[in-house]
Amino acid sequence: MTEWDEPEYRAGQIFKWLHSGVRSFDEMTDIPKALRDRLAERFYITVPEVVSKQVSKDGTIKYLWRLTDGNTVESVIMSYRHGYTVCISSQVGCRMGCRFCASTLGGLVRNLSASEMVDQVLFSQLDSGNRISNIVLMGIGEPLDNYDNVLRFLQLISDPRGMNIGQRHISVSTCGLVEKVDKLGADKLQFTLSVSLHAPDDETRSHLMPVNRAYGVERVLKACHAYFKRTGRRVSYEYAMIDGVNDTPRHARLLADKLKKTQNQQSHVNLILLNKVTETKLAPSTRGNMQAFVKILQDSGINVTVRRTLGGDIDASCGQLRRKNPGYDTEAGRKDSK
Ligand code: SAH
Repeated sequence: MTEWDEPEYRAGQIFKWLHSGVRSFDEMTDIPKALRDRLAERFYITVPEVVSKQVSKDGTIKYLWRLTDGNTVESVIMSYRHGYTVCISSQVGCRMGCRFCASTLGGLVRNLSASEMVDQVLFSQLDSGNRISNIVLMGIGEPLDNYDNVLRFLQLISDPRGMNIGQRHISVSTCGLVEKVDKLGADKLQFTLSVSLHAPDDETRSHLMPVNRAYGVERVLKACHAYFKRTGRRVSYEYAMIDGVNDTPRHARLLADKLKKTQNQQSHVNLILLNKVTETKLAPSTRGNMQAFVKILQDSGINVTVRRTLGGDIDASCGQLRRKNPGYDTEAGRKDSK
């Protein structure tokens, strides 16, 4: 604004309008008409369009958004005792190739911009009428593969003139891109970092997650510990329980051993029963195997929680989000606009 010889406070006014869900500069009624026209010549406002909205019997809401360039992503609103949490996507598709996850099936199309991430929070709140208090970056995409935009998003979303959601109310989940975890640690940020571990040994983890061939289990655990030492924020490990693949007592004991060896502080493991993705042949663990796994970890003094599954009836659970594009290919979501 100062470059344009406008008073500085105009920037604040525009910032506020952008975070109230306006669709055009003309809705910014306290901005002079000439300036609105000038803005419209130079910039555009991203407004995602609701392609579909599904409501689960447990109250979870899933949105499929169409972005300005025609690409699509999903977000999910979950209702908890402490308020509403929105799970947002960070990329159109994903290139990490995890075998159990639907989000990666068609590969990566592009990164989302910071404003497209803000939009998912803002428009989920406006459309549903639910005040969003927490955010998880656990939708489609690998947030740390879109590092700069994700950091910009974290800054924008916590601004008091905008959505005002503080970092302590935000979790970022990663498949363990070690250099980026190191970088995050150096930035001393305050959000919660979750790391998708899913196996305690390289053989099993590489089989499930190709990224493990670049960053093995030991390196990931070491980076998480360094992150904790620098930020004072404990990392939480996600572990999807897959029948006969990573859920045996041997895996549980190895997990407990490695966590105890690499993390001086008590670690936290968040077990998730595998959610069904039709393209994969993997199945969730049995209740018995899950219980035995929990007990082994607990007996070794590891903190364990089991994640409650929400929105399973509308494919809104972990690993089930995809960039499907209705009218083009609703089944596989693979052949949409690239
Ligand atoms: N790319 C990031 C963000 C995705 S978060 C990451 O890997 O962490 C989504 C979480 O759901 C991750 O922990 C992911 O591993 C897990 N997940 C993926 N597919 C799943 C499935 N079918 N069942 C249960 N959890 C799954």
